[in-house]
Amino acid sequence: MTDKIVRVIFPGSFDPITNGHLDVVHRGMRLFDEMIIAVGRSPVKNQLFTPEERVQMIAELIADMPGVSVESFDGLTVKYAARKKAQVILRGLRSLTDVQYEFQLAMTNRAVAGIETVFVMTSEQYGFTSSTLIRQVASLGGDVSRLIPKSVYSRLQQKLGKLTD
Ligand code: ADP
Repeated sequence: MTDKIVRVIFPGSFDPITNGHLDVVHRGMRLFDEMIIAVGRSPVKNQLFTPEERVQMIAELIADMPGVSVESFDGLTVKYAARKKAQVILRGLRSLTDVQYEFQLAMTNRAVAGIETVFVMTSEQYGFTSSTLIRQVASLGGDVSRLIPKSVYSRLQQKLGKLTD
């Protein structure tokens, strides 16, 4: 047995963080010693929250989770992982549809940087939860309160209220 610390990064858009993402964080922390939740700054289509807002919401949620931190990053995920001395990339899987894209991404990251990706499968109850759908459904007035943490739900309502003013 080695007592080497294993640090993992969990990269994503997190626009916004959902209960599904948090489930991945909890499961990941059963496997790894340290985790950095890495919020990508690269502009995504239909972005709702700024990277700063996304980091802030996550920071509040992980405040009492030892070993877990959050920050935003620019550029290539594998370069960021190297800068942070993370040995592993963590990603979540919801369904078989995720697998094809994630497989390609993991193979590419391993080919260009030799870094391994570890996948955890979400609880069945979050298998259909996606940030994109949450943004869409919430903007049309649907109730997404069971899919995201309470604090995120109120930020979402504030944000959408502001956007429709
Ligand atoms: P990206 O734009 O990089 O896919 P996301 O924030 O959408 O960023 O997702 C980050 C990671 O979390 C991805 O591996 C994605 O498959 C995973 N993920 C997203 N939603 C869920 C969920 N409900 N359950 C498990 N994993 C999820």
